[in-house]
Order: sequence, then structure tokens, then C-alpha cells
Amino acid sequence: MGLTLTVDGPRWRTHLREVADANAGLVPVVKGNGYGLTRGRLARRSEWLGVDTIAVGTYEELPEVATRFPGSLLVLTPWRPFVPDLDPALRDRVIHTIGRVDDLDALLTRQPGARVVLELLTSMQRHGFSARGLWEAADHLRRRTARARLEGLALHLPLAQGSHLGEVRRHIDAAVGAGLDDLDTVWVSHLTATELATLRSSYADFTIRPRVGTSLWLGDRGALAVTATVLDVHELERGDAFGYRARTAPKSGHLLVVSGGTAHGIGLEAPMGESSIKARASTLARGGLDAVGFVRSPFSIDGKQRLFAEPPHMQASMLFLPAGARVPEVGDEIDVRVRYTTTTFDSVIVT
Ligand SMILES: *Cc1c(COP(=O)(O)O)cnc(C)c1O
Repeated sequence: MGLTLTVDGPRWRTHLREVADANAGLVPVVKGNGYGLTRGRLARRSEWLGVDTIAVGTYEELPEVATRFPGSLLVLTPWRPFVPDLDPALRDRVIHTIGRVDDLDALLTRQPGARVVLELLTSMQRHGFSARGLWEAADHLRRRTARARLEGLALHLPLAQGSHLGEVRRHIDAAVGAGLDDLDTVWVSHLTATELATLRSSYADFTIRPRVGTSLWLGDRGALAVTATVLDVHELERGDAFGYRARTAPKSGHLLVVSGGTAHGIGLEAPMGESSIKARASTLARGGLDAVGFVRSPFSIDGKQRLFAEPPHMQASMLFLPAGARVPEVGDEIDVRVRYTTTTFDSVIVT
């Protein structure tokens, strides 16, 4: 019932195992909506994978995963003086990301001996130290009496567009030049297997730890299926009114009420593939239904993507099915195409 994500368990677990085996030092990323699978489930799965560390996005996400995964917890959003206080029971498990000298000092004043990774500003330009800031941080770390446990450097790289190796090398060399004591680990994202292998051979005395979310949890899309339930079906004659806006049917057909709406993250814009963009252009050219203002929905029946009869409601959507199309029955499941990272499912079933 409802908007459901069904996971082919054996196939999914095989994929997870393959990714873990191919990525020494893997750090599964368990953040946001848990890539549609929920953070709690991914935290438990990470323990099953046998990793020693997982990454969450924010401090607010810690409690939920901490009870389900027993190892270290890296927080990806940099620590700031205004983040919520850490549960003292988690002090030894949490690894803080630090990107400013002031934050390093403030954190170590509050929690002497805190575990930290120093993030460097990459071409992403999101967070992190400049090369000069890193020198200053190294200097503070040497001079402070309340020492930090330096767990490594962190680099957040843009999604693959050409090689990132030049950039990664520049950052590691800068960090070595800054004279950081105990530096032996680099945490990275979005490097290809070949790039990781090259880095490992050029920096053999460093441990390279890839943080991976999407290509781990969602890397085998064939293991995942999303369905919605047909909740109601009404016959429409041309000119019949329906919906919140009392719109009228442009021709005869059926109105389908299906589960899945804005609360699930179902938007007016269905994620479109290349072929559906072309198909849409051609129906528009022929004066099809979207020419009268019906918008393509992410729901499809018998392999054909259907049109919203009106914008999605909070938990249900209305679809227009022109006469001639096969009409599903109440209780039938239909396919839905979603962006997993923005969708909340009513249930996730792992077979
Ligand atoms: C989200 C995130 C990742 C994982 O990204 P995916 O594309 O989901 O693999 C890695 N590192 C950082 C800093 C992130 O915020």
C-alpha cells in the first residue's frame, strides 16, 4: 500500500558487498533521507558490511544512527560553535570536520582531545581551509596543550568531470608541507576506482578512505522498484469537472487517484529521461494532452508515463487516462519513477 520501495534483497546485498570489497577503507555515507532507504536501515547495513566508520551529514542525524551502528561516526558538515551539544556518550565515537582555525580552537577548548579531520577547500568551494589556513591550523595544533586527535584530511570533490588527481595531489602535498603531525589518512569523495588506485600507489604511506553514498546504496538500480497503489478510478466524459480547481476533462477517459503526493516528494516535474524529452516534444507538436496543460507525471502504467490531471496533492495524485488505455483496478500497483534522495516512501520492503 502507498508509495513503496521494494528492494531485491539478495541482489542489493551482493552489490553492497562488491562495492565494499572493491573499496578498502570504505566509509558509507548515511545522510538525509538515507537515499530513500532510511538512515536507520543504512546504519544497520553498514555494520553488516563490517566497516569501522560511517558518515552522517549533520549533528542532528547522529542519535538515530549511533544506536544502530557501533563504530566511529564522521560528521560531514563542518563543526561550528553553534552546532547542538554532543551527547557525552558519543564523544569518543564522533569525528568532527573542521574547516576554520577559530572552530578548531573553540572545539578543542570545549572538548580537549576531540577527533578531527581537517577539510580543505576544493574546487567545489563549499567548506574548508585554504592552503594558508591549513598552515595556521597546523601551527595551532602544535602549540596547543589540549591536543586534538588528528584523523586525517578531508577533500570533497565535484562529481567526476575529468580527473581530480592533480587537485588531490596539490592538497596532500600542501598538507604535508604544512607539517601536520600524525597525518596519515585522506578522506575523499567522488574519485573513480582508477584514481583511487593511482593515489594509493603514489601516497603509499597514506590510507585513502572513500566516502560513498549514491554509488553504494543506489548503485544497482535494477535491485530497486518503486510502486504506487491505485486508490480510486472514475470515468470521465468530456467536459466533466474534477479536482481542487474544478478543471474540466478535455476528452473522455478515466481519472485515476493513486498514492504518492507532495509529502512523499512527488513533484510536478517528473524526472525525465532523454527519450521522454523527445516524446514530449513530439506530443506537444501533435497538440496532445500536454498541449492543454496536462503535465507528465512520474507514474506509468503498462510502461507508458501518464499525465497529471492536476498538480499532486499532499498524499495522492490524480492522473488522467485517455479513453482507449487499459484501466487498472483499485488496489493495483503501478510504476513510479522518483529521485531517491528526495523521496519519502510509506514503506521500504527488502525481500
Ligand atoms: C554526500 C557526501 C558524500 C557522498 O556523496 P554521494 O554522491 O552520495 O556518494 C561524500 N562526501 C561528502 C562531504 C558529502 O557531503
